[in-house]
Amino acid sequence: MTDDPSAPDDSGVPTVSCTRCGRDWDLDHELDDLRAGNRAVEQFALDHERHTGHFPDDVTPWIVRCRRCPDGEQFLSERPARRWATAHARHTHHPVHLEAPDDTTDTVSPDTDGSRA
Ligand SMILES: [Zn+2]
Ligand SMILES: [Zn+2]
Repeated sequence: MTDDPSAPDDSGVPTVSCTRCGRDWDLDHELDDLRAGNRAVEQFALDHERHTGHFPDDVTPWIVRCRRCPDGEQFLSERPARRWATAHARHTHHPVHLEAPDDTTDTVSPDTDGSRA
């Protein structure tokens, strides 16, 4: 790795910390593989959640939860969250509750998705 002063953004290696675990990590290895800072953080966060049941600091997921069945998921951005909700609503005809990181909520219901033919 070279120390290139003309590197496009910020300060290089993204770090993630988790107060619940009392640890922090820098993601240069991950970054090597994925070549995208956001991806690396996202991937790490999902991984961390899978192992520990919680997300690291500064990572607040979108939570989608079906109102009719135990199905649900967590996502780190709106698009896949909505995609999941819409797909679930469409396939099962269940209304799906969507919770944004800023605490706003929304419901994707099977009937109101008329936007795309
Ligand atoms: Zn943790
Ligand atoms: Zn459901």
